[in-house]
Amino acid sequence: MVNWRRTTSQMQAATESVAVAPSSPVSARAGKPPRPRMMRQYDLVERVRSYNPGTNEDLLNRAYVYAMKAHGAQTRASGDPYFSHPLEVAAILTDLKLDDATIVAALLHDTIEDTEATRSEIDHIFGPEIGALVEGLTKLKRLELVSREAKQAENLRKLLLAIADDVRVLLIKLADRLHNMRTLEFVPPASRRRIAEETLDIYAPLAGRMGMQEMREELEDLSFRTLDPEAYAVVTQRLDSLAERNRNLISEIESQLSKNLQKNGVNAHVYGRRKQPFSIWTKMERKSVGFEQLSDIFGFRVVMKDVESCYRALGVVHTTWPVVPGRFKDYISTPKQNDYRSIHTTVIGPGNQRVELQLRTEDMDQIAEFGIAAHAFYKDGVGSPTELLKRESNAFAWLRHTIGILSESANPEEFLEHTKLELFHDQVFCFTPKGKLIALPRQANVIDFAYAVHTDVGNSAVGCKINGKFAPLSSELQNGDEVEVLTSEAQSAPPSAWESLAVTGKARAAIRRATRTAVRDQYAGLGRRIVERLFVRAKIEYADDKLRGALPRLARGSVEDVMAAVGRGEMKASDVARAMYPDYKEERVARYGAKKSLAVKLKLKSPPDPSRSPSAIPVRGINSDLPVKFAPNGGAVPGDRIVGIVSPGEGITIYPIQSPALKDFEEEPERWLDVRWDVDESTPQRFPARILVDNVNEPGSLAQVATVIAEHDGNIDNISMFRRSPDFTELTIDLEVYDLKHLSAIIAQLRAKAVVARVERVNG
Ligand code: MN
Repeated sequence: MVNWRRTTSQMQAATESVAVAPSSPVSARAGKPPRPRMMRQYDLVERVRSYNPGTNEDLLNRAYVYAMKAHGAQTRASGDPYFSHPLEVAAILTDLKLDDATIVAALLHDTIEDTEATRSEIDHIFGPEIGALVEGLTKLKRLELVSREAKQAENLRKLLLAIADDVRVLLIKLADRLHNMRTLEFVPPASRRRIAEETLDIYAPLAGRMGMQEMREELEDLSFRTLDPEAYAVVTQRLDSLAERNRNLISEIESQLSKNLQKNGVNAHVYGRRKQPFSIWTKMERKSVGFEQLSDIFGFRVVMKDVESCYRALGVVHTTWPVVPGRFKDYISTPKQNDYRSIHTTVIGPGNQRVELQLRTEDMDQIAEFGIAAHAFYKDGVGSPTELLKRESNAFAWLRHTIGILSESANPEEFLEHTKLELFHDQVFCFTPKGKLIALPRQANVIDFAYAVHTDVGNSAVGCKINGKFAPLSSELQNGDEVEVLTSEAQSAPPSAWESLAVTGKARAAIRRATRTAVRDQYAGLGRRIVERLFVRAKIEYADDKLRGALPRLARGSVEDVMAAVGRGEMKASDVARAMYPDYKEERVARYGAKKSLAVKLKLKSPPDPSRSPSAIPVRGINSDLPVKFAPNGGAVPGDRIVGIVSPGEGITIYPIQSPALKDFEEEPERWLDVRWDVDESTPQRFPARILVDNVNEPGSLAQVATVIAEHDGNIDNISMFRRSPDFTELTIDLEVYDLKHLSAIIAQLRAKAVVARVERVNG
């Protein structure tokens, strides 16, 4: 275990290899000039004065000299003077245009911890406001904790407690972390990884939550680059080549947009902005898609003077280019929780490209990039930054709320759970019954959850409880849900329909794999039974070895391939027989006329004892190892005499022999299959059946019918109603019952009801 204290001092032992520049932009935008030389006292003062003409230069100068002397000959891992680090941190904060106290505290932020300086000395020289800020930052570094989980939780807790006194502590801490991340390459690889993880887990989301998007993006990208250098390189390369290929298009879109707006009396600054590798990567991972379109990598910002212009510009855009539906969002009238405001829309713009647009005012643009720091901007004589924050910022309200939770939670882990939930607003965090945390993208459901736990859990999931209550597997998960996945060994593969229900790429891929295998196994199983049945009837011997010898003649690679082809209806069992025994003659029954065939079937089926028909294929429920379905309009239940109809690519459909639908297959005797029930009494299964009920039309009569069915353990799958006359309603009810006896009992009970005029079973 490595404690936080050691981690921090290692981090602080690092700095940039090259000299520090006068400018240290938070901005991750490309094209900023490299930093030519180490910033001097004069440069720092100049930077502050440029946005705050009334700055206390004397205070800044004293802090500069004090920190430089205090750190003295200390160096960072890169060999640079240690003082370059606080200086860079202060420079980052001048980009955020923060007040003198924040800049001074940034210069001093490591002095109490790493030098001879003390709180009282700092109070004495710089005043208690700055003293408190520096102490807040010092507290954050003095964390020695037991476990890694607890460490992270406790860090966040201390961080937020320190912020509770003054939000500027957070701004300085974030700038400190940003500079350490920028110089992470000098830190030993093992700690590098841990620092990057912590940045991605805590600091980047916290910056985002505070509305500081530029800061968040740079922290994310620096972490991404450290944690997954290969993926980072791939995404960046692809981004570069796409940007290069579309260079002309981007300036074309920019100029067309400006021109059109200008023509319509809107003055706006339009610029294309490349999305960050990390955000593209997470999107690719989440949706398992690549990026191909310009709109995947570029967004366009339209920045105007006032709100009215934003809506005017929106009108111009929407009347000039076709709108992509479902992409319009108005965060101006309804700001996000982190104070973000903009109008979002996507149009098919110049060059037939999808163009994503963000329309906003200059003020909104500042808040979108600098978030809570934008509120803390130096403003002439308008109260202290913290007061401004309290008055203006939603993000600050969130902070207060979180700090409120903090004082209520009993232990650090509980607190971490709580706060993480709040921090990652594009994710949901759920728990297994044993308390394991499962992180999923928003909109994920229980199927995604099950596959996130384990592929086997996903494949055998049959139901679930969310927070102790039964719920459908498709239920969308909410933060903090406790999810218990119910599994069944009888289900070896998931229904293929799950593939479109799942949200995560991981779940979808696993479902695809499992259903492909399961379907193939089912068809192979069916094919094998069809083949074996033919051999029994023809009284010839079947053996896998012999079939293996005949594979070249069938142009298949394996016995399983042959069986699956027969099961799918792509190959006839008689072809298999002929390949194995060239003088085999096709069974005559297959050449019977259709009418006769039905008669034969009826006759064959007449002894009710299925064991008398040894070649019939045994049928279980839908979870069987055969691709079995039941008659779509009426079903079939054990006890019914049944026949199977093979449909190429769809498996067998089981019909009760009395089904009128069978007439449709009279001309195709080769599709008929002898089947018999094979139901395991010890694990009862339900089968579908349809009944028709003529119900007297009076209040509560439907409830009576439903009650009878429920009381007799019938499961209603669907009810449709048809008013036949003023007095009667015809109900068509799809039921799930165990067998014919069960169904008959329900029908008898229904008939006994006064409100029921007639009950009949329906065979489709
Ligand atoms: Mn530091």
